[in-house]
Amino acid sequence: MRRPGQFKMVLLGESAVGKSSLALRFAKGQYQEHAESTIGAAFLTHTLQIDSDTSLKVELWDTAGQERYHSLAPMYYRGAQAALVVYDITNSESLRRAKMWVKELRQVNAGDMVIGLAGNKADLATGNKRQVDTREVAEYAEENSLIFMETSAKRGDNVTEIFMNVAKQVAAK
Ligand code: GDP
Ligand code: MG
Repeated sequence: MRRPGQFKMVLLGESAVGKSSLALRFAKGQYQEHAESTIGAAFLTHTLQIDSDTSLKVELWDTAGQERYHSLAPMYYRGAQAALVVYDITNSESLRRAKMWVKELRQVNAGDMVIGLAGNKADLATGNKRQVDTREVAEYAEENSLIFMETSAKRGDNVTEIFMNVAKQVAAK
């Protein structure tokens, strides 16, 4: 089995769903309540210990606010072995957008790319802010071979976990 030392992973999803916050939480364990939207290309790396003899460096690309310019996307995800598509559980429109990204990635890369789907802002699930049903998305994820978890960049819930599961699947290829 090939043991790649590193892989490229892109973040995709509507603006303000928490892509940059997930990247910051994953790579630095930090969260900024009033983060400025990213200016310029954002690139973070973080090494994960997959098992006792395998570590994998994740080269994580953040969209730098270019998510509005869809024509730039192919350049951005070219060569990526993995993607994390993010939506916001309090915004059903953002799920619709996430599904469009999944469809595009599957069309471009056939079944090759490992895709994670993060339902972010899970800390807002209490109260009546939730717009997206977990079970429905879980079913959709199952049908489309996606690694699905609800995450909170704010609290840190499931952030390392979803990246780790994606990395493990990349390593197993
Ligand atoms: P991006 O445009 O997708 O990169 O989104 P950002 O990371 O810039 O986040 C957009 C806004 O959502 C910011 O005000 C963040 O503080 C907030 N945010 C991001 N992740 C979470 C989360 O897990 N929970 C909550 N409550 N807010 C979040
Ligand atoms: Mg951002």
